Amino acid sequence: MAKILSPFLFILFALNILKADTLFVLDTKKIQNGIELSLSSNINKSDLKISELKDKNSYRKIIDFEATLEGIRTNYDFDEAKISIAQFNPKTTRLVLSADKELESDLSFDKKTLRFTFKSSDNKASKEKKVSSSKTNSKIYITDVSRYDSGITMKLSDDINEDDLKEFSMKNKNSYRTVINFKAILDTGRKKFDLDKNTQIVILQYNPSIARVVINSNKKINTNKIAKDKELFIGLDGVKTDDDFEPVTTKKVQSNKGKIVVIDAGHGGKDGGAINGKLLEKNIVLSLALKIGDELKKKGYKVYYTRANDRFINLRDRTKIANDKKANMFISIHANASPNKKAAASMHGFETFFLSPARSERSKEIAEKENQSDLEEANYFSKQNFLHSLSREKIIASNRLAIDIQRHTLSVLNKKYKVNDGGVREAPFWVLVGAQDMPAVLVEVGYITHPVESKRLANKSYQDLLAEGIANGIQSYFYNNR
Ligand SMILES: [Zn+2]
Repeated sequence: MAKILSPFLFILFALNILKADTLFVLDTKKIQNGIELSLSSNINKSDLKISELKDKNSYRKIIDFEATLEGIRTNYDFDEAKISIAQFNPKTTRLVLSADKELESDLSFDKKTLRFTFKSSDNKASKEKKVSSSKTNSKIYITDVSRYDSGITMKLSDDINEDDLKEFSMKNKNSYRTVINFKAILDTGRKKFDLDKNTQIVILQYNPSIARVVINSNKKINTNKIAKDKELFIGLDGVKTDDDFEPVTTKKVQSNKGKIVVIDAGHGGKDGGAINGKLLEKNIVLSLALKIGDELKKKGYKVYYTRANDRFINLRDRTKIANDKKANMFISIHANASPNKKAAASMHGFETFFLSPARSERSKEIAEKENQSDLEEANYFSKQNFLHSLSREKIIASNRLAIDIQRHTLSVLNKKYKVNDGGVREAPFWVLVGAQDMPAVLVEVGYITHPVESKRLANKSYQDLLAEGIANGIQSYFYNNR
């Protein structure tokens, strides 16, 4: 592989060496008197930094550990305590237990699961209370608000019912105002978004228990409200043409059909990519890219390929296609290779990478060293520009996409095969840098150098499963991130 001089040398090199593991908190959920975290790998008690703050009327237990929280700050409410989880700083995830008085708490570790629970001071009473008060009394927190298409999407600490949204509309001369109230606590503070020149959407805490979304416009707008999976989307749904600005009706979930996905089969032409005998990475990934495209087309997506045959393409031109087509997603397909023969028998598995500035000294060194191997590309993607151009939103979106693809592919493959879960990783790949305003990931479908995995990768029915899993992951991403 090191013999192939191409812009992908850097990528392949980085893929093989950049194994500095980042621990991810993939999911959190509320359990009896505590929360449970699903992690991307194992963790020990020695990895946690635990501190306590005791005061007369308040108690806080703080647990910090090196991890990236997939998703946003979440608060969990219990009868006598509160637990929050948040990204405390770029490296650290923080759990906080807070209560009026000191509580005993417990941490338990079980494979990739971490449970943080507290002892109820009066178990019986609170249990009974819990049963009677569950659902009806639990507070919903809005933990994150972001702009999405023609509206905003809110992350909630719990599910909300669309029927619980109270909407009314007002008209004053040529300005129209639609107000939507619902029971929730806005954790993020007031936020305002300009949907277009004449339309704004504001979210605020109307009173201690009611959150309010206000849409101001010079047009008579319809609203679109979708509540699902602890998320609430409120946005515009066209403009009314009749004179009466009547109470509006709720429209059903918009499908993701029509989303544009650009699939990039790595390498091509004179650049064969990784090689194992007659097996060439460029051929495997092309076949796979076309299969993934077919799966996506069946689901109603619009698909473009950077290459649909065996030809060489510049690194830059790969993402140019995605930008020109105003794609909603860029996905680059590769197969991995072990760095040497010795390691070939032991290295195997499916991995998904998302673009992120290299944080560790080691990955910086690799990037610098590899930048020298292709000066033209290095100048084009000047390192500083690259780091600055990376928006946090894009990193988070790419991270989410990577997690969805990793999960769904492993789940499809593992029905028939035992495939090593290489996990979700971050790395500064140039091929992903160029994709603007869209999540971009690079998938390493397996090791072409592994005796068993190489045979699978060449096998059409294994490729079908890979394509199905990756397409499912893409579908899931669009579904969850409307
Ligand atoms: Zn490759």
